[in-house]
Amino acid sequence: MTAINRRTFLASAAALAASPAWGQVMGSGEVDVAIIGAGAAGIAAARRVAAAGKRYALIEAGPRVGGRCVTDTKSFSAPFDTGAHWIRQFDINPVVKAAAKANLDVYPEPSGQRIRVGARHARESELETFLAAQVRATRAISEAARGKADVAAARALPKDLAEWYDTIEFALGPLAIGKDLADVSAMDFARLESDTDAFCRQGYGTLLAKAAEGLSVQLSTPANTIRWERSLEVETPKGSIGARAIIVTVSTNVLTSGRIKFSPDLPRRQLDAASKLKLGTYERVALDMPGNPLGLAPDDFVLEQSKDPNTAALLANVGRSSLCFVDIAGRFGQSLAAQGEQAMKAFAIDWLVKLYGGDVRKAVRSTQATQWFKDQWILGGMSSAAPGAQLLRRVLMEPLRDRVYFAGEAVHETAWGTVNGAWESGERAAEAALRKMGALKDKEKETPKREERSPRKRRR
Ligand SMILES: Cc1cc2nc3c(=O)[nH]c(=O)nc-3n(C[C@H](O)[C@H](O)[C@H](O)COP(=O)(O)OP(=O)(O)OC[C@H]3O[C@@H](n4cnc5c(N)ncnc54)[C@H](O)[C@@H]3O)c2cc1C
Repeated sequence: MTAINRRTFLASAAALAASPAWGQVMGSGEVDVAIIGAGAAGIAAARRVAAAGKRYALIEAGPRVGGRCVTDTKSFSAPFDTGAHWIRQFDINPVVKAAAKANLDVYPEPSGQRIRVGARHARESELETFLAAQVRATRAISEAARGKADVAAARALPKDLAEWYDTIEFALGPLAIGKDLADVSAMDFARLESDTDAFCRQGYGTLLAKAAEGLSVQLSTPANTIRWERSLEVETPKGSIGARAIIVTVSTNVLTSGRIKFSPDLPRRQLDAASKLKLGTYERVALDMPGNPLGLAPDDFVLEQSKDPNTAALLANVGRSSLCFVDIAGRFGQSLAAQGEQAMKAFAIDWLVKLYGGDVRKAVRSTQATQWFKDQWILGGMSSAAPGAQLLRRVLMEPLRDRVYFAGEAVHETAWGTVNGAWESGERAAEAALRKMGALKDKEKETPKREERSPRKRRR
C-alpha cells in the first residue's frame, strides 16, 4: 500500500499572571478594550490586553469559548474536533505556544496518507501522475496570481489534468479552503502559506480552551449594537459596556448578516470588503467505527480519484481512536449540508462503502454531523476572497476612527482560514489599540510580525 503525505495534497503574551490579575473585567461599565467574540482571535486579543495591564471585557454570544475551534468530549469516547483539527504551522503556531504549560499531547501529522481508485489503493504510477498533475495545477494558479487581473483560481487550472481533475480541484479548493476554485481569487490562494501540520490528541479545541484559561469571558452575551460615534459602547442584553477601543472578531458572514447593529452604520467600504471575503462551507461527519474495519493506520488521510465534485476526504482512526472523520466542503458540501444531518451521515457511510466495501455499514456504531453554516454566530466554514477581491483583506484591517478594530481569520493576508491566522490578527488588533492609547510604547514588547520572521514555505 503506497503512502503519500497530505501536505503534498494541500500542497504570548510574555508575562501572563494568574487569573485575577489578568486585567479588570467588567460586565456593565467601562473598560479599555471591549472584545466581541471568544474564538481564537478574541482570546488572543484579550490575553494581549491583559498582558499590557489594561482592562478588557471579552463577550461571547455562544455558551462556550473557541468559536470554530472546539472539541466535543461528550458525543464519543474520544475527543471530536467539530471545527479546526489540523494545527497549521505547528512549529510557530501561537496557540501551541500559549497552551504549552497544559502539557497536551501535540504530535506531527503522520505521513501515511492514501488515495483510493474505486475500491483499491492507487498504484505507485497513478500516485506519481496525480502528484505531478497537482504540482502543475498549483504552479499554474501561482503564475496566474502574478498577472494583472485577479482571476478565479479555477481559470488557471491546466486543461490536461485528465482523470485527476476533480480530485485536484477538491483537494486545492473545498478541502483546503472550503470553496470551489471557481469561487476563489487566484491571488488569495497563492498568498496562503502553511508548513508542517500537527494534531492534538485531546483536540485542537481543548488546546485553544487551555490558552483561554484564566481569562474572564462573559458567555451567552451577544453584542447587539456597537455605538462608535462620539463615545464607544457595546450594547448587550445584560447591559452596556463603555470602552476606549473595540475589537470585533465575528466571522465575515456574521458581520454582513446585520445581526450586530452598528451606529452609525458600518461604512460601505468595510461592508463590501466583508461581503467579498465570505465564508465557504466546511462540514464534518464523525463516525465511531470500532475494530478498524477500514484497515487503516492512526490518522491515515484518504482521498479518492473522483469523477465529479461530489467527493469527500477521510481521516481515519483519529488520534489512535476508533473515530473517523468524513469531511465535505465547497458547493457540494453546501448542498449536502442543506439537506440535513441525516443526508450527510448517509452520504458519508455510502461513500465509505463505495471505497471499502459493505462491511463498513455494519461497523458504524454512532455518528455526528456538524452544521456550522446554520450556527447563527458563525454561518460557515472559513473565509476566502472572491475573484478580484484579495486586496480587500487590507480594507478589513483598517480601523474605524482608530478605535474600532476588526480581527479574525479573514483579517489575515497569508494565514486566513486558520486558527493561527485568527490568533495573530487578534494580537495585532490588540496591539494597535494599545498603541493608540499609549499603552504600548516599547516596540520590543510587540509580537514579532510574520514578515519579520524567517520566510515560510507555502502550504501547497
Ligand atoms: C469544520 C471546520 C474545520 C476547520 N479546520 C481547520 C483546521 O483544520 N485548521 C485550522 O487552522 N483552521 C480550521 N478551520 C478554520 C478555523 O476554525 C477558523 O479560521 C478559526 O477558528 C476562526 O477563529 P476566529 O476567532 O476568527 O472566529 P470564530 O472562531 O468564528 O470566533 C468568533 C466568535 O464570535 C462569536 N460571536 C459571533 N457573533 C457575536 C456577537 N454578536 N456577540 C458576541 N460574540 C459573537 C462567535 O460565537 C464566535 O465564538 C476550520 C473551520 C471549520 C468550520
